[in-house]
Order: sequence, then C-alpha cells, then structure tokens
Amino acid sequence: MSKGLIVSISGPSGVGKGTVIERLREMIPGCRHSISVTSRAPRGTEKDGVEYYFRSKEEFEELISKGEIIEYDQYVGNYYGTPLTPLLQMSSEGKTVLLDLTVPGSLALKDKFEDTVTIFLLPPSMEELRSRLCGRGTESEDLIEKRMAQAKNEIAKAEKFDYVVTNRTVEQAAQEIAAIMKAENCRFKRSSDAVETLLAQ
Ligand code: 5GP
Repeated sequence: MSKGLIVSISGPSGVGKGTVIERLREMIPGCRHSISVTSRAPRGTEKDGVEYYFRSKEEFEELISKGEIIEYDQYVGNYYGTPLTPLLQMSSEGKTVLLDLTVPGSLALKDKFEDTVTIFLLPPSMEELRSRLCGRGTESEDLIEKRMAQAKNEIAKAEKFDYVVTNRTVEQAAQEIAAIMKAENCRFKRSSDAVETLLAQ
C-alpha cells in the first residue's frame, strides 16, 4: 500500500474541480496536485508543466506505449492522462496527491490502486453549471453544449464513487473534502502502525 493518500476528484467540466483543488493545496500542507498530460491546446494563461503537460497526440501515444501513463481517457476529442512516475514518487514520500480526472479515469485509477479515494464533485444545479461554463469565456457555444450533455452522463455515474460533495462555494467544498481526507487517514489500515507501536511498549 502507498504511504500518502491518493484522492481522485471527478465531476463535470466547469464544476470547479481545479479551484477546489487549488484551495485544498493551500489548506493542507504536504498536499500535491498530479499534473496530467493532455493533447488539448493551452487555454488562456495556461502554461506547460503548471496546469498540464501539453503534448501532441503522437507524443501522448508514445507515452502510453512506454507504460508511462497509469490511466488515460479521451474527452471532447483530446487525450488526458496521469503520468505514473510522479504519482508513485509523491505518494511514497507520504504526500497527499490530488487528481482531477474524468469519471472513467477515477474508476480506472481505483482499479489499479484500490486505496484511491474517489470523490464526485456535483454542481448545485445544471443551470449553475451552464453559467459557470459560459462565465469562463474560453469555450464556443457548440463546445458548451457538448460539455453539458457529457455532464449529465457523468452525473449518472456518481454512485460508483466513494463520496459525493456539492460545490456550492469553493470554501465549503474544500472543507468537506478536507474532512473526508482526515477521516480516510484515520482508517485502521492507514493507522495500524500507531496501534502496533503502542502494543509493543
Ligand atoms: P479541461 O479540458 O476542462 O481542463 O479538462 C477536461 C476533463 O479532463 C476534466 O473533466 C478533467 O477532469 C479531465 N482530466 C484532466 N486530466 C486528466 C487525466 O489525467 N486523466 C483523465 N482521465 N482525465 C483528466
């Protein structure tokens, strides 16, 4: 079993996963974000190696064939995947690792690492989700419609996740996820060392 908690957060595009993850990183020392590789183009001020590693489709396929991607998915015509080595490295150093993955991505990761904690982030309403997507101002109307249709399909799969959190405000959602992380760290399987130490005294 890995040392640091691996927490995978999914939810429709525009629900605010990135912002909630950013807040969690401020709140929790030793918390890291797994930077994904994608074949989509950078949006706005996004920089290579910060929000994503931006690669061509060919480069992405090469990473898959070399076994360097632990899970990947295609979303609105582009590849998104999790690099294996940094994930293992951060977790073995005892860091809590946060991932922002598609629904199949979180479920695939849990299949590979069964201790992964999966959290589904819901919007307060579909109307609110649409207005958040429009407010971003980076997507065409056609792409927004595609993302709204995808959102419904994704929400239907929330039952496969360990936890469901509604993102009413960034602060409330981050506090709830932090509480989940605290509880997960207190599970017997993650605290058995403390028990053994006491019994040996
Ligand atoms: P966006 O283009 O809005 O940044 O991301 C689109 C979708 O890709 C989001 O739902 C996000 O969670 C997902 N995503 C980002 N990185 C990864 C990854 O490494 N693997 C998978 N499966 N999905 C990812």
